[in-house]
Amino acid sequence: MNHGHSRARKPLGAAARMSRRHFLVAVGAVATASNVRPGWAKDRTPLTVTELSERLFVISGGGGNVTVFHPDEGVLLVDGGSPERHEDVLDLVRKRTGQKRIHTLFNTHWHWNQTGSNTTLCKTGTRIIAHENTKLWLGVDVDSRWESKTYPRLPVNARPNQTFYTPQSLSFGGETLDYACVPEAHTDGDIYVFFRKANVLVGADVVSVGAYPILDIASNGWITGNLNGVTMLKKLSTAETRIVPGLGPVQAPAHLDEQAAMLTTVRQRMAKMLAQGKSAQEMIDAQPTQEFDAVWGNPEQFIRNAFRGISLRPQQMGVAIV
Ligand SMILES: [Zn+2]
Repeated sequence: MNHGHSRARKPLGAAARMSRRHFLVAVGAVATASNVRPGWAKDRTPLTVTELSERLFVISGGGGNVTVFHPDEGVLLVDGGSPERHEDVLDLVRKRTGQKRIHTLFNTHWHWNQTGSNTTLCKTGTRIIAHENTKLWLGVDVDSRWESKTYPRLPVNARPNQTFYTPQSLSFGGETLDYACVPEAHTDGDIYVFFRKANVLVGADVVSVGAYPILDIASNGWITGNLNGVTMLKKLSTAETRIVPGLGPVQAPAHLDEQAAMLTTVRQRMAKMLAQGKSAQEMIDAQPTQEFDAVWGNPEQFIRNAFRGISLRPQQMGVAIV
């Protein structure tokens, strides 16, 4: 385990940026107290459901989007919501699918709002699939310096029990799922999960909607990785593919182009400023995201984290070290 000691998580307010215009069903839900970690604000965002096909839907509002596939063979989840909302999420899954047991859970990365069901589901023998790096991150306490937060490790049996490095394929319930790593995009353990028949691509937090992408500098997310990530997801997509982001409504592939265009422009500007020796604050003051802010929101943390990532990798940014 050589990941160092400092890692990061998504700001707790991130769920607030979700748009609900595409959601079909709203289900009131109350946060349960049993799994609320100290210091976490109580989240009472209503759970909402977006139907994608007869056996496939997305639950939003439980910390992060949870994609639910439920053929007769069993229930498969891509991400499990936050620790404080996972019981509500699982209740809704059972209610809508009529099935009690969760057969398989994917963790698209290690963040708290994707892995909140692990501790419960490991007790019933759920297969938990993730990139090996995600398992490693979940095995240590997280000192998230850029958020000034610490997140405790998961118990050993709640960590992923099936991990991988190279692209994988899985047949389940008449569907074929392709899944693979998206290197250093949001974290260094991100994966996509592509439901080939349904043509639904879960991009998770590599894809950001209505806010600048979170570059988790402590677990090696960075701007070039994020750009390469959305470009990779676009290549997997057809015009009809539906993209499930980590937060917010399901997107068309055009959203990936928008995110890539924004990242390309901002990255170029920041590379130029890096070569000029500018600091993070000087870059923020120079407003390299100005024309994008109306769509993507407040850029400060994004620029700060992007700066950190590129300043650690000047050669990959085309900047000579002198
Ligand atoms: Zn995340």
